[in-house]
Amino acid sequence: MKHLHESYNDPNKLEDSREKFEKLTYKPADGFTNFRNEFVRLAGECQRPKSDWKYEFNRKLTPSLKTAVAKEYLDKTVRFDEFVRHCQQIADIWTRAQQERSTSNSGSGSGKSKDKDKGKGKATSTTATSSKSSTAPTRTRLSPDEVRILAMEGRCFTCKEKGHVSKDCPQKAADNAKKLAAVNAIVDAYAAKQDKTDAESENN
Ligand SMILES: [Zn+2]
Repeated sequence: MKHLHESYNDPNKLEDSREKFEKLTYKPADGFTNFRNEFVRLAGECQRPKSDWKYEFNRKLTPSLKTAVAKEYLDKTVRFDEFVRHCQQIADIWTRAQQERSTSNSGSGSGKSKDKDKGKGKATSTTATSSKSSTAPTRTRLSPDEVRILAMEGRCFTCKEKGHVSKDCPQKAADNAKKLAAVNAIVDAYAAKQDKTDAESENN
């Protein structure tokens, strides 16, 4: 707390922290823990109200992580700390899946659970490819629950196969803009509602 007090008394430091906080985004390559620590440090230094932290944290996530945690984000009973822990779980699963993928490219498959899941993946992939050939737009809009299950199992959001994240999915590019717009609409609607209720409670 002494530290916060000092930075508040130095206007340059405060400006500097504000700028860093604005620019901070989650980059998976830098690791989730580093991002989380930096967020908490800067949010504290800028004296952001704790009530905004969940909103600010969510804004700085990658689009795919934002999608995966949309349910927890919109759930008002999920507090900042729980929300961050949930984000971390999914980020860790994705990091592990990516590492597994890069190691399985170089050596013989020693994966434990991989073979068990292979049958399931094959069954769904045939239906996925057959529906793709139809002229109708792909119906890949997932519910937050579906997204969560896919994320927990380390599966791709788009084609539901293991071994790559949605970011690297060949099917993803076409749907990407559409899906992102839908998520942003939810987030914006929530933020607008939040601003309104905040303003209302201030007026009371
Ligand atoms: Zn895919």
